[in-house]
Amino acid sequence: MSKPVLLTVDDDPEVLNAIERDLRHHFRADYRVVRASSGALALETVVELRRRGVQVALFLVDERMPHMSGTQFLLEAMKFYPDARRVLLTAYADTDTAISAINKIGLDHYLLKPWEPPSVRLYPVLEDLLSEWFARRRPAFDGIRVAGHSLSPQSYEVKNFLASNHVPYQWLDMEDEQTVRELLSGASGGATRLPLVFFPDETVLVQPSARELAEKVGLQTRAQKPFYDLIVVGGGPAGLAGAVYGASEGLRTILVERTAPGGQAGTSSKIENYLGFPSGVSGAELARSATTQARRFGAEILTTQEAVEIRRADPYRKVILDDGSELTAYAVLIAPGMEVRRLEAPGVDELLGAGVYYGAALTEAATSRGRDVIVVGGANSAGQGAMFFSRHARKVTLLVRGADLTASMSTYLIDRIAETPNIEVLTNSAVVSARGTGRLEAATIRNSLTGEQTELAAAAMFIFIGAAPRTGLCGDLVKRDPQGFVLTGRETMTDGQRPPGWSATRDPFPFETNVPGIFCAGDARHGSGKRVAAAVGEGSATVSMIHQYLQTV
Ligand SMILES: Cc1cc2nc3c(=O)[nH]c(=O)nc-3n(C[C@H](O)[C@H](O)[C@H](O)COP(=O)(O)OP(=O)(O)OC[C@H]3O[C@@H](n4cnc5c(N)ncnc54)[C@H](O)[C@@H]3O)c2cc1C
Repeated sequence: MSKPVLLTVDDDPEVLNAIERDLRHHFRADYRVVRASSGALALETVVELRRRGVQVALFLVDERMPHMSGTQFLLEAMKFYPDARRVLLTAYADTDTAISAINKIGLDHYLLKPWEPPSVRLYPVLEDLLSEWFARRRPAFDGIRVAGHSLSPQSYEVKNFLASNHVPYQWLDMEDEQTVRELLSGASGGATRLPLVFFPDETVLVQPSARELAEKVGLQTRAQKPFYDLIVVGGGPAGLAGAVYGASEGLRTILVERTAPGGQAGTSSKIENYLGFPSGVSGAELARSATTQARRFGAEILTTQEAVEIRRADPYRKVILDDGSELTAYAVLIAPGMEVRRLEAPGVDELLGAGVYYGAALTEAATSRGRDVIVVGGANSAGQGAMFFSRHARKVTLLVRGADLTASMSTYLIDRIAETPNIEVLTNSAVVSARGTGRLEAATIRNSLTGEQTELAAAAMFIFIGAAPRTGLCGDLVKRDPQGFVLTGRETMTDGQRPPGWSATRDPFPFETNVPGIFCAGDARHGSGKRVAAAVGEGSATVSMIHQYLQTV
């Protein structure tokens, strides 16, 4: 297979030579550098590359070119290579253009001329973009293939698991009979249960569980050490931050995640308020980078393992996993976040995974292409979901219980939704039922002001109606508030008295629970910020308290 292409476009021959030279110097082992001296010539190149089936990883384009600006070129080129990373080369005076391009074409980066020295100003940013592209690129046909029905819950589970764990796969829809028949004829046992997962070593798994898949694709599911300094429960932003800071500061750290790292943030199509990402970052991307970072510092990350109980066995803390195994450490950081609230309406549970999804279900974007979809909810997550699906669906209907969006959604999202012609907001509206034979066909909506019920045809419905803390593992050991959020710091004390059973000669640290050495961070903590940045901050801040705690055991 030919190497993926980095395409650079500039009408100034001197700049074009310089950028081509620098790109070749650093990236030639893995990428082919192709140049063009105008937008029109570059577009011809793009069409030809596409015809030959060559992958393009990155466009690096000058903004100010006669006849066709860099932004105009990118708008056209994206139609052929929607996944390629997009970088504009600008002079200082063009910064406004670059910022508007972030919104118009989802620009990944704007690079100011000159970029000397490239080792500081060019290579790191391009390396990051290329590693993102690499992780998301369309898999080669000789990778993992999943064959099933597009609207079957079992197929959705498998696709979602692989995608959340950043394992590339090729999806083969049973409706495309020819391709799938070809594969099925080679599958042993003529299995009729779907999905089938085909691996490059020619083995096939039939309707596999998440753990079977995890083990098969080489994800760690069992601990390697008999003892740790820190066990982190939950691989959302708070847990990942705890693992990164714990491991980087020398603690023997293990993180336990019941599905795939990322948590709620991992289901967000675009997080726009996380510091340092002016054009936003997808939750999946953030999770992937954080997981790599934690592993790089030596943290073990177990997936498909749920922590079901925490025990105190002074001076140790034990975490029991759902396969019956137990982990032992001096300290535990509980970061289990929240689980989505279920929509109680007839038909919804039956059609789960078959057109009805909780969260953004990014794997289903292709299914909604050109069709009508419903997004349920009035908070930022629903707003982001509506924006995301508006790029694929013919029409998005956003159903909101309240009279308007202002009570629960950020202004920037409300404005974006108002500017998006294929999103319709229905206020004072709730889903009363969903129906469909084998897959969602329509939902019945009730207007709470008029009592009127209407049926809305839809190929998919994405539900974002809030969440509750997932803290069942605390049992009677770790104190929670009546809503299930974990109490920490001063909240664990009553009338200035330390919690019952408290053995240390100090008050609990700010993120410490009523049990010394057991900490809690992120959305599951009483009074937490319920934002990615807040969860990351809490997860990392906890580590310094854990260090202080460890000095006493
Ligand atoms: C769709 C959506 C969009 C959002 N967009 C934004 C945004 O744009 N900006 C923003 O700031 N915030 C956003 N948020 C909120 C943000 O994602 C959360 O505040 C943040 O993810 C909380 O992080 P956390 O680590 O505390 O918990 P979570 O993200 O909930 O992660 C907890 C993790 O722990 C795992 N887990 C739970 N229990 C166990 C157990 N017993 N054993 C093992 N693992 C367990 C879960 O599987 C999960 O992976 C969004 C939320 C959603 C749902």
